[in-house]
Amino acid sequence: MLREKRIFGKSRPALSVVIPCFNEEEGLAQTHARLSRVLSRLTGFQCEQIYIDDGSSDGTWEIIDSLARSSPTVRGVKLSRNFGHQSACLAGLREAVGDAVVVIDADLQDPPELIPEMAALWLDGWSMVSAQRRNREGETLFKKASAYAFYRLLNALSDHPLALDTGDFRLLDREVVALLTKSPDRHMYLRGTVSWFGFPETSVAFNREPRHAGETKYTLRRMLELSRRGLMAGSPAPLRLPIYLGTTVLVVGVVAAAVQRDPRLLARPGAFGTQALALGVIGEYLHAVFRQVQGRPQYVVEGRLGMVSPSLRVEERVAL
Ligand code: UDP
Ligand code: MG
Repeated sequence: MLREKRIFGKSRPALSVVIPCFNEEEGLAQTHARLSRVLSRLTGFQCEQIYIDDGSSDGTWEIIDSLARSSPTVRGVKLSRNFGHQSACLAGLREAVGDAVVVIDADLQDPPELIPEMAALWLDGWSMVSAQRRNREGETLFKKASAYAFYRLLNALSDHPLALDTGDFRLLDREVVALLTKSPDRHMYLRGTVSWFGFPETSVAFNREPRHAGETKYTLRRMLELSRRGLMAGSPAPLRLPIYLGTTVLVVGVVAAAVQRDPRLLARPGAFGTQALALGVIGEYLHAVFRQVQGRPQYVVEGRLGMVSPSLRVEERVAL
């Protein structure tokens, strides 16, 4: 197994924990204390914590600074301004050196106590361990309902299966992190992209508690932006909509004209339908260009068996 080869020889595998923070001064010290308690009990791992300050305007960076000064296993990275949660997570994944990396929110809505179970599942061979929300306490009915509906809609429209009701609180194997951080995708929807890679994925269930301090940073505008990203990154459906619409209108027009024996009935649906279809054809090309720019690999290899026969070595093949 690849993982065994990679961590073989190390006394303990390395585990990085990435914590994106945006104006989290009120609760960060408590988060750090709880996380550190959990990590100190993970004696089979060498752990590091990486706090990413995503352009906070409060005292978040000063707190991270004091945490990093007082502990050799804590690092801080300050982004020049607020780039958003997904970019902050990606920044942390790029900094992390662990054999496995956990991304966790700074507000204790993601309980750090789940990390040992995630790490154990990683040792069992799972490349990704996501934390699945059983319920969401302290969140508005609107947020609960919209999240429930959105994940299901996205799953139905996506061109690959997605883990339902999971956020970015998850453990990723180094291989997955390497693929993510190499990706040129500038509008990445992390949880979708990692599912797209298709590595063995499992989940642990948990009850999502309310924020222990501060306010949510995910305003309605940001939630809509994240949903747009998720849909665009994983589904060709929005760009194909005109094709479906145009075809439907044309078929209805033709049937209506045939049934009524009146070709004039086809005039308006014909004009609208062909325009929509033309737009849909442009959408198909746009989608092809988008996929190319998104830069996902054409396939991902999970494992290999056997070795190249010595008689097929490159020099000999060239000589032939
Ligand atoms: N966050 C961030 N940048 C942002 C917004 C949020 O780094 O622009 C961080 C935030 O500090 C928290 C995590 O992302 O650690 C999740 O945000 P939040 O708890 O506000 O979202 P919610 O749980 O309400 O969906
Ligand atoms: Mg939160």
